Amino acid sequence: MIKYIAALTIATSLSTSLWAQDYKQIHKDMIVVDGHNDVIISSILDGHDIGYLLKVGHTDIPRLIEGGVDVQVFAVWSDDKRWKIGAFKHANDQIDALEAVVNRNTDKIQIAKSYADIQRIQAAGKIAAVIGIEGGNMIEESVDNLEYLYNRGARYLTLTWNYNLPWVTAAAVEDSKPENEQQGLSKHGVEIIRKMNQLGMMVDLSHASKKTFYDVMKVSKKPVLVSHSNAAALTPHSRNLDDKQLKALKKNKGVVGVNFYSAFLDSTYNSRLNTLYTVQLGVAPSEKMGSTAKYNKLTPENQAKADAPIERLLEHIDYLVEKVGIDHVAIGSDYDGIESAPVGLEDVSKFPVLTKALLERGYSKKDISKIMGLNFLRILKDNEG
Ligand SMILES: [Zn+2]
Repeated sequence: MIKYIAALTIATSLSTSLWAQDYKQIHKDMIVVDGHNDVIISSILDGHDIGYLLKVGHTDIPRLIEGGVDVQVFAVWSDDKRWKIGAFKHANDQIDALEAVVNRNTDKIQIAKSYADIQRIQAAGKIAAVIGIEGGNMIEESVDNLEYLYNRGARYLTLTWNYNLPWVTAAAVEDSKPENEQQGLSKHGVEIIRKMNQLGMMVDLSHASKKTFYDVMKVSKKPVLVSHSNAAALTPHSRNLDDKQLKALKKNKGVVGVNFYSAFLDSTYNSRLNTLYTVQLGVAPSEKMGSTAKYNKLTPENQAKADAPIERLLEHIDYLVEKVGIDHVAIGSDYDGIESAPVGLEDVSKFPVLTKALLERGYSKKDISKIMGLNFLRILKDNEG
């Protein structure tokens, strides 16, 4: 009997280690695309050199390589309330900063402006860096500025962030208003969408109000991207998409990138964060305190307890796949724009863990490769043509 158990243990550990190699190889063989990362504003502009392994943040080039990331969309983000230098200038400063990183690391990363660029850069074994503009405020209402940013490499524009612009409205502001007060897309907004279609720049509807969402669906001749949002049916939040929106997205042949933020994945995250904070610090957090400030006060052990279980992320993927189909779900991690990601997916080096989890959940290699990258590449190509 003892002999039998020993043999069984050896057999189990052998198959476990083979399995471990397997999923890493499967992940490596796929084209991995992350459609949203905020490292420019949260780390590069603060002077961190992502060419080196950093002890801060979620992202640097060594960790992107470890995570098997082939294409990284770098978000350019500016909040008019915080930066007074002019959002268009601020956007250009951020593209300058990304270009400087790329120029220091030409053997590892290159800027891609097209699907063909991505193929060439990927074949050379480098990371393709794609630019996404997160916030229509950065074009300062000018179609010329939009074209200028496109020419610098921007391949999507998230129409608005968490506040309204004269031509477009945000979910964070408008979704709670009565229907007759909702504005959506203005006439000038329609012109901007048409120009984006013409240029081959993806319209990103993360952060957009519901009215904006449906207005764009009527105007856009190309499939739209929702770069970093989840399912509201599982986690009710204005940043997530409800079933009606998912149905419209499917009809549009668009793509939704699943967001890794614990609060968008798990409805119990915020209360868990408050409890852990109160227990650890002996005092409840003030009403005004943001979730990042609370999270940063926690010990690493308590941070891990606050993070959503990876199961929540898998449930969102299952749900989105069920509602919009396997060809319309992608990854938009939001790393470095969020304080908390699921357990096991703490930074960009951990993407192989997601591949492993999806394999274990019964997804085929083919289906995982669609979610991990091919769907994003398909919509990028659809917008070019
Ligand atoms: Zn965002």
